[in-house]
Amino acid sequence: MRTFCEEAEDFRGYIAKWVDERLVPQAEALDEAGGFARELTRELGDLGYFGTMYPVEAGGSGLENPNLCFAILCEELARGSVGFAAGVCMQGSTATHTLYEWGNDMMRETYFAPALRGEKIAAYAITEPNAGSDAASIATRATKVDGGWRLNGSKIFTSNGTVADFITVVATTDPERGGRALEMFVVDTGWDGFRVGRKLDKFSVRCSDTAELAFDDLFVPDDHMLASEQGGGFRNAYRALTVDRIFTAALAVGNARAAYVAALRYAQERSQFGQPIGKFQAIEFRLVDIYARVQTAALHTYAAAQMADRGEDITVSAALAKLVAGNEGNAACNEAMSIFGGYGLMQEYPAQRYLRDSHFPMIGGGTPDIMHKIIAKQLRH
Ligand SMILES: Cc1cc2nc3c(=O)[nH]c(=O)nc-3n(C[C@H](O)[C@H](O)[C@H](O)COP(=O)(O)OP(=O)(O)OC[C@H]3O[C@@H](n4cnc5c(N)ncnc54)[C@H](O)[C@@H]3O)c2cc1C
Repeated sequence: MRTFCEEAEDFRGYIAKWVDERLVPQAEALDEAGGFARELTRELGDLGYFGTMYPVEAGGSGLENPNLCFAILCEELARGSVGFAAGVCMQGSTATHTLYEWGNDMMRETYFAPALRGEKIAAYAITEPNAGSDAASIATRATKVDGGWRLNGSKIFTSNGTVADFITVVATTDPERGGRALEMFVVDTGWDGFRVGRKLDKFSVRCSDTAELAFDDLFVPDDHMLASEQGGGFRNAYRALTVDRIFTAALAVGNARAAYVAALRYAQERSQFGQPIGKFQAIEFRLVDIYARVQTAALHTYAAAQMADRGEDITVSAALAKLVAGNEGNAACNEAMSIFGGYGLMQEYPAQRYLRDSHFPMIGGGTPDIMHKIIAKQLRH
């Protein structure tokens, strides 16, 4: 699927080559080991890919279509490994975007710039054990003290959480005031009071690092609070998550594309009843259905990314892209797996990994129900 944007297609050419040479050969081993791929992350940093979203003045790539190119980056990496791509997506988008938009010079120098070079790992933590879809009800408390804030609470499902050097943490300054009291703080993971509760083992995106975190009376200096008008932290956190939906959709596109290519190849290689199974119309039609799902997912994703690049309101298009790409990607991987018959269930074939990984883009950044909720609210106006 092409984007009809020369810059994005040139960009795709470079990253696709890296994915084929460096990521694809390691993808199975990474999934099996379930660990963070630090070396590959560093390599991408050296190549400048974490700067895709940002202008040259900020140390970024200065692309004309940053959102579309970042979506292509996520798609191509996900074609190799959604788990690896999810960590890159967090580092190159949400966790750095917040600092770029609302950070001060110290934050940009100490955290943002090294993250763009891949020298520091970034994470973003809003979800808590008792606050997922209902993000405004988070309980991690920021209490004002002399010269800063004391943070107490815990987070769950934080991507890059066990390996992060810094984490943008969303906390409430007054639990009585819901979303209006949320603020964002940059937490250096070397500080006293920060603790990784545990690394979480997963069925999907196994090589993306996922953690439970704890903050025990952790002191955050005033200059580590991200700028916001009083209580505007939630609006900012929400804005960061909105654009991110496009990139999560792109993960679904890349993964489904890989599943399609693998199923097509298998259908040509596997023979039953004296002919390749791809010659049976049932299989051929199923491959067309998978292809249609991939194209549908890609079209929604590229359209939303291009709207973001034009500075248009993406509330609906980003949620729609994630909803459509997540669901279509999952259905595509399910159908792709059926083409492998019994071999699809075997670890030595990638079909099961594509299906397992296809669940992540549906959940990360908000479930399909929440995407429906966001779109329904906008359509009511
Ligand atoms: C691998 C992974 C990585 C993640 N990375 C991060 C990260 O880096 N940082 C971070 O902050 N979070 C992260 N998340 C969290 C993710 O955003 C949440 O899991 C997601 O928003 C859903 O929240 P929940 O899991 O608490 O589910 P819940 O909110 O408890 O939802 C459970 C079910 O109820 C449904 N539901 C809930 N509310 C409604 C409603 N109003 N209407 C209809 N249905 C509803 C949901 O759709 C779902 O089916 C990650 C999650 C995963 C799995």
